Amino acid sequence: MLRFSLLLSLALTAISCARNPEAAIFLTFDDTAVNDWFALADSLQDIDFKATYYVTLYHEMDSEKKGKLKKLHERGHEIGNHSYDHTVITAYAQRGMDVYLKEQIFPLQQLLAADGYELKHFAYPYGKDLPGSDTVLLKHFKTVRKVAYTHNYPLDHHNVSLFLGNTPDSSVLWGAGIDKHYQIKEADLIKAIDVCAKEEKSLLLLAHYVGNDSTDEWETDLSMLIRVLRYAHKQGLKFKTVSELDVQNPYYLGSQ
Ligand SMILES: [Zn+2]
Repeated sequence: MLRFSLLLSLALTAISCARNPEAAIFLTFDDTAVNDWFALADSLQDIDFKATYYVTLYHEMDSEKKGKLKKLHERGHEIGNHSYDHTVITAYAQRGMDVYLKEQIFPLQQLLAADGYELKHFAYPYGKDLPGSDTVLLKHFKTVRKVAYTHNYPLDHHNVSLFLGNTPDSSVLWGAGIDKHYQIKEADLIKAIDVCAKEEKSLLLLAHYVGNDSTDEWETDLSMLIRVLRYAHKQGLKFKTVSELDVQNPYYLGSQ
């Protein structure tokens, strides 16, 4: 009987997955919380969880963090560039993009290349950009990710973070923040996942730390996140990295 119900539940899972082949969660994390990311990924291996980690301050990471990042990469997670030392790009408004590339982009690319990575995606520290910076950065990266502030409008109608299948309409991506800072509730996330499952849409999310410190506004609650991601899996959503995005209308270089 036990075996029968196991087979039945496997069959039902297969049916619900096949129902929405394109719906996906693109979960992205920024900064340096490799230990948190690793623990989360480890506890979700049974549902084929994958994410994208935009790293910064790599030169300050200890060997334990670097080892865990490597393991995540080997398991199919994506590593992206989040600048050498997290200096906001607006600090380069006078010195220009050439200096920004030289001080914040290339050094991190080189450090990570020496450790076997090729970083193809970028996320702006603090989500801030400069006029024309997308155009310059998209000569070096396939996509750039900014931050969608979700306080003011509902996540399930979030037109820049919810898109059809895996095809956002630009190589400029918007991550909907889910840290406590953004005041997103579990019910908001469930609603957005239901929209994805029903309309074969994908959702791009952004987080930093993951844990159970209720006072850290840049943390996403670990048990809440696990419940939400398991719910997404149950609804047939896949977990994908930004490398799996099929940008249908690549960012037009003259559009800024
Ligand atoms: Zn950051």
